[in-house]
Amino acid sequence: MASSIFFSHPASAEHDTGPHPERRERIFAIERHLEQTGWFGFEQRDAPRVERELLESCHDAGYVAALERLCAVGGGQIDDDTLVSAGSWEAALRSAGGAVAVVDVLLSGEAVAAFSAGRPPGHHALRARAMGFCIFNNVAVAAIHALNAHALERVFIFDWDVHHGNGTNDLFHSTPQVLYASIHESPLYPGSGPAGDRGSGAGEGFTLNLPVPAFSGDDLFCELVHERVIPQAREYRPQLILISAGYDAHADDPLADCLVTEAGFATMTTAVRRLGEELQAPVGVVLEGGYELGALARSVAATLEALGTPEG
Ligand SMILES: [Zn+2]
Repeated sequence: MASSIFFSHPASAEHDTGPHPERRERIFAIERHLEQTGWFGFEQRDAPRVERELLESCHDAGYVAALERLCAVGGGQIDDDTLVSAGSWEAALRSAGGAVAVVDVLLSGEAVAAFSAGRPPGHHALRARAMGFCIFNNVAVAAIHALNAHALERVFIFDWDVHHGNGTNDLFHSTPQVLYASIHESPLYPGSGPAGDRGSGAGEGFTLNLPVPAFSGDDLFCELVHERVIPQAREYRPQLILISAGYDAHADDPLADCLVTEAGFATMTTAVRRLGEELQAPVGVVLEGGYELGALARSVAATLEALGTPEG
């Protein structure tokens, strides 16, 4: 019987970032909250490791090898806000692997909904560069897997993290096989994602960037979802929908200035789930940012509840 599956792995706690907003306690907070509130019908599973060959279909093989070596010697600082520890290699493999597993359980029909709560997050990671707390671009690896291993032709990635997912934007910039839509605060790190960036070459028109000003909340985010994101995605007719789900647009988040609440995340999830039902495209969710532990945990719960609740 088709079920709902939540992927995570203890190795995520071994990605030791020290005093850093992207810390192991994020996953602990999510799982503790779900223990208390119930899992909304989701079954917990260990995220598998991503296969090297798949990882290298998204990332430069030299970059992957360099990262493996850096972790093997105990880790180090990669840029001002991105670092790895000895345990980051395994964590990163599981974080990407969890996103891939989401695709597999959805497309095999084993699950009707799936969520991967891995860390490090992914959407800033470029083909050959870690960036912005991100090592491997988990959602991009998952989308490539859907296209290659499952022979899909159209994958829709909706990124509601408050930061622009520059890595995902760039990886699929020139292909029509992935529609990438992002709502993000602007100006804000990493500074990319103007509305005029709509993709390039054969991918022209398959990138939808929706920058919003600081202090935007549920009303604007949900309006953009209903009036821009869903109509364009409907026209695209994706065979799979992946949400790049950061929760740092939450009002309580310390890294940005938007005012989204749990109710807003639930409304956006419901809108995407209904589109998926309409198009018979399964919906998977991959964790990105979100740095206020309580807000993060409650917002993930709101997402699971909205995702797992059958249409009444
Ligand atoms: Zn973010």
